[in-house]
Amino acid sequence: MKAQPQASHFVGGAYVEDEAGETITCVYSATGETIAELHAATPEIIERAMTSAARAQAEWAEWTPVARSRVLRRAADIIRERNQALSELETLDTGKPIQETIVADATSGADCLEWFASIAATLSGTSVPLGADFAYTIREPLGVCVGIGAWNYPTQIACWKAAPALACGNAMVFKPSEMTPLCALKVAEIIHEAGAPAGLFNVVQGFGKVGAALTGHDLCAKVSLTGSVETGPKVYAAAAEGMRHVTMELGGKSPILVFDDASLEDAISGAMLGNFYSTGQICSNGTRVFVQRGIYERFLERLAERTKAIRLGEPTDPETQIGPLVSFAQRDKVQSYLKSATEEGARLVVGGGVPQGEAFAKGAYIEPTVFADVSDEMTIACEEIFGPVMSVFPFDTEEEALSRANATPFGLAAGVFTSDLTRGHRVAKRLQAGICWINAYNLTPVEIPFGGVKRSGLGRENGKAAIEFYSQLKTVHVGMGPVESPY
Ligand code: NAP
Repeated sequence: MKAQPQASHFVGGAYVEDEAGETITCVYSATGETIAELHAATPEIIERAMTSAARAQAEWAEWTPVARSRVLRRAADIIRERNQALSELETLDTGKPIQETIVADATSGADCLEWFASIAATLSGTSVPLGADFAYTIREPLGVCVGIGAWNYPTQIACWKAAPALACGNAMVFKPSEMTPLCALKVAEIIHEAGAPAGLFNVVQGFGKVGAALTGHDLCAKVSLTGSVETGPKVYAAAAEGMRHVTMELGGKSPILVFDDASLEDAISGAMLGNFYSTGQICSNGTRVFVQRGIYERFLERLAERTKAIRLGEPTDPETQIGPLVSFAQRDKVQSYLKSATEEGARLVVGGGVPQGEAFAKGAYIEPTVFADVSDEMTIACEEIFGPVMSVFPFDTEEEALSRANATPFGLAAGVFTSDLTRGHRVAKRLQAGICWINAYNLTPVEIPFGGVKRSGLGRENGKAAIEFYSQLKTVHVGMGPVESPY
């Protein structure tokens, strides 16, 4: 199986290579096969990417809003036409099952480009009457934005950053995670094909130090990072050196609260989606599931039954529901958490190890796992695992559940399942999270803002809110009378 791109980087409207860069080996985690070899960006490639982006941005910012909008919309259309091929590539890049990638990755990228295409055409400032004088505001682009991506949603992350950035008149240089270097190249190719000026969306490969070089580049006006809570402060500090704007989409340890009066099947569906989709590698996953004591054992019993029925397998098989983790290193990490859970006294309900059999022998597979009777201090209750591992905790009162749910440095997402309308809203109001779902989980349509509070991040992606993070206001005050002066 091969997925070798034409070259490692897409810069100035074309694929470019510099073999002097460190080798990046792209491995299909279902088989351990090497599917592509690329090179990290050298300082020359980084320079070319940043300068060509600056040139393209100056041109793009002069285009009419409707012309910019048209390019983004065309890019969305091309992505939809090529959804099959893009989804297959996403599956190879990440190991996620085709059943998921066909509906959740390129399509989500296309939605984002389409939605921000509409926004691009309608952006405007305001006019402020000041007696005889008046003022107006102009919404201006920031310049060249740097996007740095994580490995769990390589196409979606590239689009979620590119679409609002470009809609506001910026250019972007994007660095994917070195673990999933392939998909963003396709996004760059498509944006160029849709009619964007050469260099408007460049992709350069590399490890963390390429990200650091982009962040510290003189032409960088903003950095948008999707990554871990460990990387976030480093990138934020580096951006602060140059007074650069930031968006930080980081990790979490999000809670789901299930009350006695909830629909049991819906709550279990929400908890499973929020722990097992993408083999558990989703930042907003609800990995701490608090279940009220009245339904606790019933919840666990039915959850175990449904979890055992999940079809684990080869990601390109359309019947497969869960594939391997992104890499063998990630599997080692998840396994170390499984070990800690058992050692610290959590009750294993289902899963808990590597699936046996020939089909799984060569891949980075792990069973979807549920631990019950987890206490708030256990390692699996405190740290982001990024694997299909759900922790379930019993609780008695609403007040107790809220205080335990909020007792974390993270604040990305939260969920509440209840049939009591007022409780749903009351609890959502008090949960410390950037996004809360009531009787749903992990839905992230482009129309609504997404992002974290506390150590889970800063800024918002998607929704109109994203515009604030990719543009700045200039105020123009117009004097209409004689200048009054005491001198
Ligand atoms: P990561 O290790 O923090 O890496 C994220 C990106 O930052 C990678 O491209 C990485 O490069 C780069 N990087 C590392 N050090 C850097 C530095 N000093 N300067 C600039 N860039 C640097 O995260 P990951 O393991 O790829 O992804 C998993 C994490 O992402 C999880 O914590 C997850 O919760 C989070 N995430 C958050 C969201 C959200 O929207 N909130 C969405 C998805 C994922 P290399 O890895 O290539 O070296």
